Amino acid sequence: MAEIVSPRGWLALGIVILTAGIIAATGAGFDAAGLTLVGGTAAVLATTAREATEEKAAFAPVDTASAGEPDLVLDALAEPVLVLGGPRILAANRAARELLGDHIIGEDARTAIRHPAAAAVLGGASDTDPVALAGLGSPDQRWDMRVAAIGDGRRLVHLADRSGSHAAERMRVDFVANASHELRTPLASILGYVETLSDEAGEDPALRARFLKIVLDEARRMDRLVDDLMSLSRIEAEKFRTPAEVINLADLVDKTQAELADAHNGRGRDIILEYEPGAYVPVLGDASQLSQLLHNLIGNAMKYGRPGTPIRVSLTREKGTVRLVVADQGEGIPPEHLPRLTERFYRVDPGRSRSIGGTGLGLAIVKHIAERHRGRLEISSRLGEGTRVAVTLRAPAAAETLS
Ligand code: ADP
Repeated sequence: MAEIVSPRGWLALGIVILTAGIIAATGAGFDAAGLTLVGGTAAVLATTAREATEEKAAFAPVDTASAGEPDLVLDALAEPVLVLGGPRILAANRAARELLGDHIIGEDARTAIRHPAAAAVLGGASDTDPVALAGLGSPDQRWDMRVAAIGDGRRLVHLADRSGSHAAERMRVDFVANASHELRTPLASILGYVETLSDEAGEDPALRARFLKIVLDEARRMDRLVDDLMSLSRIEAEKFRTPAEVINLADLVDKTQAELADAHNGRGRDIILEYEPGAYVPVLGDASQLSQLLHNLIGNAMKYGRPGTPIRVSLTREKGTVRLVVADQGEGIPPEHLPRLTERFYRVDPGRSRSIGGTGLGLAIVKHIAERHRGRLEISSRLGEGTRVAVTLRAPAAAETLS
């Protein structure tokens, strides 16, 4: 009882005993005195015990008995979460241990999350605005750290993974910068030649004709670029709507061959179709996007294949799918470039691509079209031998095919 009753309680208890004694001495009877003694003592004990509990809760040292024990609820969270007592880490979920190491339990959080922006907050603040942490885990990772009080002097630290949105934002900024640069190059050329034409060069018919042709070529380049940029944004806008029209892919390839017959120095005559004339090869898709995919792939084979070598286009039915392959005999692509070919504006040889009118967006468009069709794109190449691009598209169920 000495521990339960505070000094204030002892004083109150003394008053109760004294009162009971006075009641007994004044002859009010032992019953009344006893009642006063028992009731008063109980009231003092109840009050002081409650005070003790409240004080204990307010100043309780953090319960570290469970520190480090896996918490099922915390572990179920995909993002790192820590429980701190003061600046010390009492518990950390699996994601936090994977990010910061198993040794962090019991450590000072400022040592575990060694980051200048985090130190001040982890030292003692709570319910703060998110603190942006860069490079925790790996140089590319970005986190928003939030600290919230959870009672008993403890705080919860939550690290929200912002790496994905940060990378997307960086891609967007790079894309805008690249697109502006790509548009500016022909525009600068057009402005330069138009200025020269308005001066003395405009007087010379031969020079004027040459400069006007350059202006026209550069304007067409801008036009192709704007077309490709618009296509990309259209395809991206529709990416969650899988096209389900039944299309005869063989028919589309035939049309593409006819449309490209005179393109790229007459390379159209080198296109070899490796399927029966009039074949019916149904796929599920969007006709105009698949036509664009064919133009880009066959066009690349015409541009980058050696002059006079065949460009082979084959269509093969495989379980529930159709595999389109476009193969050329060109210089091929060094293997280190293969993974980046579908990035916007990525070119193996920028000078060559531009000189033959490339926008650097052809394969990015192909990738997006294939993705929208829930298809698969594979690019393989052998140096000195050539390049082969395969796209696998979904075939309709037998009942769905055209008659
Ligand atoms: P571009 O407009 O430059 O052709 P693409 O996105 O179609 O843009 O292709 C990106 C790059 O990939 C090209 O610049 C070229 O370096 C390379 N490439 C694409 N197709 C072929 C191919 N069939 N053979 C060799 N290189 C190719």
